[in-house]
Amino acid sequence: MRIPFFLFVFAAALQAQTTELETYIEVRSGTLPIILTVPHGGSLKPANVLARRYGVTGTDANTVPLAELIIEELETRYGGKPHVIISNLHRTKLDPNRDLEEAAQGDPIAVAAWHRFHDSTQKACDNVMKKSGMGLLLDIHGHRHLDQRVELGYLIKGDVLKHSDAELNADAALIASTCIRDLDKRSPQTFAELVRGPQSLGGLLEFRGFRCLPSPSKANPTFMAGYFSGVYDVAAHGSRTSGTLSAIQIECPWNNVRDVPENQRRFAIALADSLGVYFEVHFGRKLK
Ligand SMILES: [Zn+2]
Repeated sequence: MRIPFFLFVFAAALQAQTTELETYIEVRSGTLPIILTVPHGGSLKPANVLARRYGVTGTDANTVPLAELIIEELETRYGGKPHVIISNLHRTKLDPNRDLEEAAQGDPIAVAAWHRFHDSTQKACDNVMKKSGMGLLLDIHGHRHLDQRVELGYLIKGDVLKHSDAELNADAALIASTCIRDLDKRSPQTFAELVRGPQSLGGLLEFRGFRCLPSPSKANPTFMAGYFSGVYDVAAHGSRTSGTLSAIQIECPWNNVRDVPENQRRFAIALADSLGVYFEVHFGRKLK
């Protein structure tokens, strides 16, 4: 049977677009119950993708090499790799950490890339939940706030973090609206401890030399200092509405974390070590 020429052309175009998308959104499957998403570290600016006309377009510099080191350190300790989804597109072309309209602003290639980012992330979450019954997504970012702390986002606004521990623990509606809703049910610790106690992710990272917010040393943001509490990725894929996959946005400062490879490595080691303790304490299971 002869295949019409236009079908060849169509198939070739489809193939080219698929390869293009695989370059723009890199997806690697893993074996650990951890998913790393890196939405803002990309540098590709393809001419055939329209520039976004509104929204934030600044890149989170060095978050891709930082994520690569986190992957390495996790593998060294726990004998497996996390699932990884990286946007290699510059934020002027796509912002995966926003809803589709703001993210892609109508460009068909950016729309397809956004779908690949979120479909792949959800697939990784579903695989982790099926295999392990629970898991953790870490959405890796970079910030340039004056207070150079690692900002951990649980979808709790900065002004709400001003509430006392007792008030946070009693606020069932707040807890249910966070991206760690399911983890709170599993953890033997109170919600406030899970968010800013000595064995919160902030507490564990501070013990290893990285100042965090929220944490035992800093319960809430300084007035006007800025704090990122989490956006689309953790809301869409964490356990806010359903599921057993919780999520945390990790906003890395430039100084001492993203700036040079030695500091990136130090942070990757601290995070990998912290996650081992975090899983044992709150999820009740070893990572290895
Ligand atoms: Zn970011």
